[in-house]
Amino acid sequence: LLSALADQIATTLERIELTRDMTESRFREEREKLRSLLLSSVSHDLKTPLASIIGSMSVLRSLKASGRVTEEHVDTLTETALDEAQRLDSFITNILSMTKIESGDIEFDTAFHDPMEPLGRVLKTLKPKLKERSLNIENTVQGMEIMMDAMMTVQVLQNIIDNAIKYSPDGTDIDVLLECTDDYFHYKIRDRGPGIPEHMLERVFDKYERLNKSDSQIAGTGLGLAITKAVMSAQGGTVAVSNHAEGGAQFILSYPIVESKETGVV
Ligand code: ADP
Repeated sequence: LLSALADQIATTLERIELTRDMTESRFREEREKLRSLLLSSVSHDLKTPLASIIGSMSVLRSLKASGRVTEEHVDTLTETALDEAQRLDSFITNILSMTKIESGDIEFDTAFHDPMEPLGRVLKTLKPKLKERSLNIENTVQGMEIMMDAMMTVQVLQNIIDNAIKYSPDGTDIDVLLECTDDYFHYKIRDRGPGIPEHMLERVFDKYERLNKSDSQIAGTGLGLAITKAVMSAQGGTVAVSNHAEGGAQFILSYPIVESKETGVV
């Protein structure tokens, strides 16, 4: 009986070993897949805007050399170059933040701010991308100051509003509502795009998760929302997504309301 039992244990152990080997090799495969996906999307994200900047500047130089350059040429070509340079800038900022967040090497600089301040900065950089759209802002918290890291808030708002522009059709509106409920201040950003499938609502915050893997037309790395989530939770806040009843995605950035010691007001 003992030897039969020993045989059985040995076979089970062999099986476990085999399964472990298979699991490890599957993990390796997955890691490799992820690495090459990241490499290809990173190089795409770096190379596409760079190619566009080089392209517009070369055209401008040739037009100038041939004496055919008009004011309109200068305007459109520099606008394109600036647009793309900004895209590169926010992409690199995201990659650097992710590295810092993952190594625990990030410091937050929180203070009381008018929440319109970081929003205004984002709108300034995103304005050229809005083109034919209206971005409607409703501020129901005039005069209130919220405890936040202004730079980080610029980054998360930039990620969410940039996505609203990227993933919804040209010409459709984007709404930004600033309001307070239940001891939290919220930025609510709603677009009129396709929204997010129910089963993906939580997964969009995972690293490298994209709904449009095959869509090379839309530049992205799947890092923006993962960073947004990490940055919000480091500030004691949250980010959530839902589909709006009348269509489109709605992202909500929430910050806890903290009372100011000096003024007693929030
Ligand atoms: P990226 O935009 O670089 O792919 P994000 O982490 O910002 O990465 O977003 C992850 C994915 O979530 C996107 O690839 C897209 O599929 C989906 N997504 C994000 N925002 C929206 C939106 N407003 N509408 C529809 N899908 C969205």
